[in-house]
Amino acid sequence: MAVTDPVQGTVTAALTKLQRVKGWLNDRDLTDLAAHLGIPTYRVEEVVSFFPHFRRRPPEPVEVDVCRDMTCHLRGAPGLTAALRTRFGGDGRVGVREVSCLGRCDRAPAVCVNRHAVGAEVHDALYLGRPAAEVETAVLALADGQPPPAPNRDADRPRAGDPWRIDVSPAYEAARRYLRELRQAEDPAAALGRIDLIAKLKLSGLRGMGGAGAPAWKKWDDVARAAGAEKYIVCNADESEPGTFKDRELLLRAPHLVVEGVVLAGLACGASRGYVYIRHEYPEQADAVRAAIAAAERERVCGSDVGGTGLDFPVAVFVSPGGYICGEQSALIEAMEGKRAQPRNRPPELATNGLFDRPTLVNNVETFAWVPGIALHTVLDPARPVNWYGDLGPGGRGMRFFSVSGDVARPGAYEVPIGAKVRDLMAAAGGVIGGEERLKAVATSGPSGGFVPRRLTDPKNPGRTTDLLDVELDIDVFRGLRLSLGAGIVVYADGADLTAAAANATEFFRNESCGKCVPCRTGSQKLAEVGLGLLRDRPTPDELERLQTAVRELDRALEVTSICGLGQVAAKPLATLLRYFLDEVGPVPLRSADGRH
Ligand code: SF4
Repeated sequence: MAVTDPVQGTVTAALTKLQRVKGWLNDRDLTDLAAHLGIPTYRVEEVVSFFPHFRRRPPEPVEVDVCRDMTCHLRGAPGLTAALRTRFGGDGRVGVREVSCLGRCDRAPAVCVNRHAVGAEVHDALYLGRPAAEVETAVLALADGQPPPAPNRDADRPRAGDPWRIDVSPAYEAARRYLRELRQAEDPAAALGRIDLIAKLKLSGLRGMGGAGAPAWKKWDDVARAAGAEKYIVCNADESEPGTFKDRELLLRAPHLVVEGVVLAGLACGASRGYVYIRHEYPEQADAVRAAIAAAERERVCGSDVGGTGLDFPVAVFVSPGGYICGEQSALIEAMEGKRAQPRNRPPELATNGLFDRPTLVNNVETFAWVPGIALHTVLDPARPVNWYGDLGPGGRGMRFFSVSGDVARPGAYEVPIGAKVRDLMAAAGGVIGGEERLKAVATSGPSGGFVPRRLTDPKNPGRTTDLLDVELDIDVFRGLRLSLGAGIVVYADGADLTAAAANATEFFRNESCGKCVPCRTGSQKLAEVGLGLLRDRPTPDELERLQTAVRELDRALEVTSICGLGQVAAKPLATLLRYFLDEVGPVPLRSADGRH
């Protein structure tokens, strides 16, 4: 018998549905919902006030959201916002807002235009990399009730790079094979968790692609070993780090791999239900995943009585109410439970006390997407083992995806061997605009790792330098150089204003801090003020020295006192600006609206 999905009864899910119908939420809506759910109104209020997606006032008929973060900032978003505000400032029908990264850094600057009719959203269109005049035409058409110019759809963009090696298996074949094994077992429920998939993951060397880079099998093993019949698998598709959009491509173009990865995790961990948690700015991707789930249900690899085993494993999409912090795995779980998405103090870990206090596995989209291939093609025979995933890359390190944007000729999501050089990734993305000699800096982990110069000096041996382009794309190699390597690579060429970029990245962290820890809440504000100050006046040498010390100390304090990764890296953009780019510190003339240097 199908059991009710517990997530659908939470405050977050109810508010999302209500706003979808009404367009915004008034006081009466909140008190009625509180009464319906049998909870105090403040519980509803605290959720509504946390997420930027929930509106407490009626929206303007046309709402224009301009991405303000990294690559869009580099590509002229401030000028575009100013132009749109000047054009529509007195027009009561149009509201222009700056919003956090929309995940379309490969076609920056990104604008999302929403038209509301009697509350409900009837139009939600992206205009990507378009000049201000084209965006104005679209906004005017919508405000006048006319058909707008064609927006940009992710599906219309050709896939970047060569054919992906990740997508090698017939859809759901690995899940079907394991389900056949389970069906033949005397007690399929008891056989769950005894399949050999975790051993295959261990042999593969696959690491979590969400940032920390821990061996993927370890989390799976922890959840498989955790006590309890009710366990959850959650795919973290809340890709909100500026400069990062490779999961967007995987979700759209290979959703079957993600869904099958979630199903296989359910079989290996003995879980009862799976979710794909998707940011609300990815509607095409959410539809693609829903279609993949429906196909998997038809194949009977998820849903009820999977593979004729008598076991149920439903999988559902959960649409995030928004916010970068939801990408932190415990904050995401809080959001699913209908609470403010504030990261949890740990321990206990999610593997034992996750969603609704049950053992829960949370992995990134790409981590799940590699699993079907590993399940099908890995051979555990000790005499003749085959490490399919590891052997895809040099030195048995496998492959991974990067999102490349900024000053490159072909921004996009690229699959490369782990251990390829930064130069190889740049070449895949068409090279630095104007040639590699123009490379000034690379943000190698969105804003989280700050800005890395092309030539790195060894602090212990100042005569020795490393060319960033020669560094291997391997998280361990980067850590050895005291650098971060994430999935979002943003390239800055000569002429880019790094003070403005650092101030912008610092404001991002200030805006997205959840406010739970005092050092992050007040420290990120202090850092944002420093960034804005640098944009106004060039500091004297004495002031610069004091600022360097202050930012270094704040960086250290945030690293050791913040609960989650956001606070731990909030000072990196300014710290790296003041460490590597002292000549750059200070104001320069504003970049033009089309992003040219
Ligand atoms: Fe929230 Fe910042 Fe603390 Fe993370 S470090 S929990 S974002 S206040």
